[in-house]
Amino acid sequence: MAPTRIRHLNNCPRCPVLGAEDIPGVEYFQALSLRFHIPIARELCRKSMLHRLERTALKSWLEGVHILSAHLYHLPPNLGPGIMVTLPSGLGRPVIDGNHRAARALHDGTEFLAYLLPEAESLELLRRSMGRAAADDRWSRLVNLEPQPDDEREGEER
Ligand SMILES: [Zn+2]
Repeated sequence: MAPTRIRHLNNCPRCPVLGAEDIPGVEYFQALSLRFHIPIARELCRKSMLHRLERTALKSWLEGVHILSAHLYHLPPNLGPGIMVTLPSGLGRPVIDGNHRAARALHDGTEFLAYLLPEAESLELLRRSMGRAAADDRWSRLVNLEPQPDDEREGEER
């Protein structure tokens, strides 16, 4: 085996690189041309944003995410809650950190908690992840997409 070849714990690409377990890599989540930097997202999380995900919502979200099933049982215990962001125009609330934890919880029938960043904090995260100009450009394209059915609720009487 060539000495320069990178090897991962458990031979799993989602596990840490051998010899560098304590060195955090640059973690990103990419969706719809948006790039979220996970360590910055962690800085923005507040206890008041903690949110328990309904199983049905979790299940439908995970259908669209690539999950490496072998990795589900490599996860260390006590990883803590995941992180979700809020996209504008009712476009959804992607789980940017903790998808394997979520899949594991769904499989085991346990709770999955995540910090839900509100729209303002989600945009702040995007600006700090991609730079303000790129973030504002992509965000404004999302804002200008066709209205979602959820928007009708804005017209309801109080
Ligand atoms: Zn793994």
